[in-house]
Amino acid sequence: MKTVFVISGPSGSGKSTLINMLINDFSDISPTVSHTTRRMRSGEVDGKDYYFVNQERFAEMIQNGQFIEHVKCFGNFYGTSLMTVERSFEKNNLCIMDLNWEGAYNLLHDGNNNNVLSLKSDNLKKIGVLILPPSFKTLRDRLQKRNSETNESFESRLSESFVVEKIAKYDYVLINGNITESYNDLKEIYNIWK
Ligand code: 5GP
Repeated sequence: MKTVFVISGPSGSGKSTLINMLINDFSDISPTVSHTTRRMRSGEVDGKDYYFVNQERFAEMIQNGQFIEHVKCFGNFYGTSLMTVERSFEKNNLCIMDLNWEGAYNLLHDGNNNNVLSLKSDNLKKIGVLILPPSFKTLRDRLQKRNSETNESFESRLSESFVVEKIAKYDYVLINGNITESYNDLKEIYNIWK
């Protein structure tokens, strides 16, 4: 049995921190590495945080049917390739994906492209977890502290957070007011489904 954890949450929800904690503690979970056309932030590593590619390359990959899902988000493209999922599954039977609400929706509902269909199997479980901040103010404060975005992106990331909870279909919702408590909850979910 293989399991995919699909994790979503607005920028500033604490999603990346929680995912990294889980990956560090449990060697049987492999993260998938997405492709993106957004610029690399300082500290990011190509091939580890993302595969950073230009728009032409991304478009070529779409044409070749290499993505199981892809989206345009905050003006950039993001996508999960079939290759990265297969690589993760070569190592273990558990992988974890960080997807925006739209990508999560497509994957959790199986979408209608062939690569998503190829992930359909009686032997595959897909568990969706949505991480939310305790309040909108907390989100604004966290994003301001993080300060990694341009003003424009900051505002679009804030407004995007309104959309998340309404549309996607998740199995769990974690309200991240306290990182230790949220991590304990995430570990419980992992233990149930691993
Ligand atoms: P960031 O620019 O902060 O790294 O990511 C922006 C958003 O893109 C986040 O919500 C993240 O979950 C989402 N994201 C990252 N990789 C993928 C992907 O491969 N597919 C989808 N659908 N969303 C992604």
